[in-house]
Amino acid sequence: MLRDTHLKINLDCLDNNVREIKNLISPDVILGAVLKANAYGHGSKGIAKHLYENGVNHFLVSSLIEAIQLRRENVHYKILIMGHTPDQYLNHVISNDLTATIFTFEQAYILNKLAKNQNKKAVVHLKIETGFNRLGLQVDEHTVSTIKQIVKLDNLIIEGIFTHLALTNKEKDYEQYTLFMHLIGELENHKIKIPIKHVCDSIGMVLYPEMNLNMVRVGALLYGLQSEEKGKLKIQQVMTFHTKISHIKELKKGECISYGNRWQAKDNTSIATLPFGYSDGYPRNMYKKGRVTINNKAYPIVGVICMDQCMIDLKHDKVTFDDDVVIIGDGRNNTLSFDAVSSLAQTNKNEIVSRFTSRVPKVYIKNNRIFNIEQELL
Ligand SMILES: *Cc1c(COP(=O)(O)O)cnc(C)c1O
Repeated sequence: MLRDTHLKINLDCLDNNVREIKNLISPDVILGAVLKANAYGHGSKGIAKHLYENGVNHFLVSSLIEAIQLRRENVHYKILIMGHTPDQYLNHVISNDLTATIFTFEQAYILNKLAKNQNKKAVVHLKIETGFNRLGLQVDEHTVSTIKQIVKLDNLIIEGIFTHLALTNKEKDYEQYTLFMHLIGELENHKIKIPIKHVCDSIGMVLYPEMNLNMVRVGALLYGLQSEEKGKLKIQQVMTFHTKISHIKELKKGECISYGNRWQAKDNTSIATLPFGYSDGYPRNMYKKGRVTINNKAYPIVGVICMDQCMIDLKHDKVTFDDDVVIIGDGRNNTLSFDAVSSLAQTNKNEIVSRFTSRVPKVYIKNNRIFNIEQELL
């Protein structure tokens, strides 16, 4: 490893979460693993490979570029691009054997033509708008006829149909679901049967088992990001964030730290400098709120957090340069979990995990041992 600041990704915890989720859903429901945003910061290549070796073979990403990055690993799992793929990139969907999300006849028509040119069939999932109002084919009096036209295109395989819940409340979520199921019913009346129907993300999967249909699209819970809506699931947080001390110095009462000298020592104290900052993805607004943990004891971040470094108040405790500094832990042993950090930073867990930058090496743990280290040399 070329840097002390790193992410630890515990594949044993990931395995536990897969088992827990598989126990929760019925055996005929496909576990679709959401690997967008570099697998929520866990490294999509490493995570995909590990999941595939452990029986998960449906992967979902948000964009074409993420799908191609995964496909380069040369493993032939299914990859659904859940977002929009602009017309000019659709040929890559076909040449990389990806599954596209389609919600207009125009795109279906273009994709069909491109597939014909490559002498292939393009696999698609239709996205239906039911109230999230992000992407999808609006449900109105034209929807069935539009889908009928799409189904007639010879070089398309309509493998799936889906919608996304806004998770507003039970009543609103059911309105969305009912609208979706009503459309499915109408399509079936017209002899259009689409094999994979899906609605639920992590929270939907737990809250509404009856909506699991043929597949669930699971991100947050797979990575063990704790949620109040985890039901009976005993999930374990997969990722933790660590570093080591780069410098220790004594500060006299009245001396100040960092930009604007906004933190002043009330007493003589000892200060450690840590080699991580906001450009690694740690929220800059953790100033005055953040703390790290060394030997099970918490130490506050003092002074403004810099791009690449920050300081903590050791209060003369004995620590060494070899000690593991837990910046974000799993919540045990006095550490802040992703859940705690995201509340303090006034954002959500997904934002914190997904914005770690490429200069942070990832250390993969399997059977309690280092299994692989991934670091990008730019
Ligand atoms: C991100 C995403 C998911 C996964 O959401 P989690 O809450 O992380 O499980 C599911 N479906 C769609 C359409 C998404 O964009």
